Amino acid sequence: MNWLARDYATLWHPFTAADEWERQAENLAIERGEGVWLIDTEGNHYLDGTASLWCNVLGHRHPRIDASIRAQLDRIAHSTMLGLTHPGAIQHAERLCALTGLDRVFYSDSGSTAVEVALKMAFQAKQQQGEARRTRFVSLTEAYHGDTVGSVSLGGIELFHGLYRPLLFEALRLPAPERADGNEEDACLDAARRCFAAHGTEIAALIVEPLVQGAAGMRMHRPEFLRELVGIARAAGAFVIADEVATGFGRTGTMFACEAAGVKPDFMCLAKAITGGYLPLAATLATEEVYDAFRGPYADYRTFFHGHTYTGNPLAIAAANATLDAYEAENVLAVANTNAVVLGTALRGLTHSCIREVRHLGMMGGVVLRRPGGAAFAASERVGHRVSLAARRHGAIVRNLGDTVMVMPPLVMEAAELGLLVGAIEAAIHDVLGAGGAGTAVG
Ligand SMILES: *Cc1c(COP(=O)(O)O)cnc(C)c1O
Repeated sequence: MNWLARDYATLWHPFTAADEWERQAENLAIERGEGVWLIDTEGNHYLDGTASLWCNVLGHRHPRIDASIRAQLDRIAHSTMLGLTHPGAIQHAERLCALTGLDRVFYSDSGSTAVEVALKMAFQAKQQQGEARRTRFVSLTEAYHGDTVGSVSLGGIELFHGLYRPLLFEALRLPAPERADGNEEDACLDAARRCFAAHGTEIAALIVEPLVQGAAGMRMHRPEFLRELVGIARAAGAFVIADEVATGFGRTGTMFACEAAGVKPDFMCLAKAITGGYLPLAATLATEEVYDAFRGPYADYRTFFHGHTYTGNPLAIAAANATLDAYEAENVLAVANTNAVVLGTALRGLTHSCIREVRHLGMMGGVVLRRPGGAAFAASERVGHRVSLAARRHGAIVRNLGDTVMVMPPLVMEAAELGLLVGAIEAAIHDVLGAGGAGTAVG
């Protein structure tokens, strides 16, 4: 039996429709990687247009990260952070604090757990700071903060989160702008002011994906909006949690998206790119003020009673330290910003009557597909999904969210490959939706 037949007999894939998966001719089994390329079991090469789900920032088989993990393997693969520490984690935490201006680092394993940790910390800190009424959270519509029950409670994507509502705690919702053009921002900020005026004394924290709501299909807002929103939450005495799981490590042009707005949150959630896309690791950063709320005699039980078995795993930390080394030695932010200009130009150059809009910031992009008149395609047409699959015939792996084709290449993908990637998306759109040449440039 071949790999795929054996897969269909036993595996269950994330965010994947079972019947569709088992029918799809385009399925691949990836065996190797080389820089920005993925290589399947048949030896075919594909550009990694999703950065292996938004985390591979520096390419596959990066010499510096490979060497760091191998060296750590010769020392120890895992020891616990519960009651013990290790040098790599200390070094890495110091570096994250220096980069973010925050003071404390709590490790876990995924973006979802980083958010769970932040929300439990924020809640408990308020309880222990004598503000027991502050039990509620504010999040934005169309937010995505992960798939565990707490982070799903904060999420606002109906397709992913709606079914689970009876299981979830109720968050307060703020409307978020769709585009970073300033048009919707005042109305959204007015709604935020009303929400905090009505509920301010009950709110423990605001959580926000700074600058880009990636999983919503690359909805964006301007730094000014973020700064204003954070100011409203702070004035009401709420903590601010920045979910930088997607935007962190240079994705939007600065090391962290908060920097572009001059915002310093009380908590920052990091994952995805933190290990260069090598191993599962996440970090929840907090201020010293928050940490202080957890101090006291043991019998006061102010401890944060939360931890995951593989928290701060030394192999993952070795990858994370090597990733930061690479950012310094290889000038990754400057490289990413050069590549981002190329990506933006290529995306804006796409022409097809079904391309409604192109969204782009840094090394993140989205191509929004609609009928030529602007109406949405029926969900059953699976247009975005079919375009993603068709792109494989043209040598690129991409994913869609609904009918938005997502473009999240490694930060180090350079002009030639970016041209191939955007070309593959364009060819795939033509394959699925016809020539559509009468379209106007989306500019
Ligand atoms: C991916 C993502 C998460 C969840 O991270 P996982 O590692 O998949 O659990 C949370 N927040 C944002 C903004 C993300 O993009």
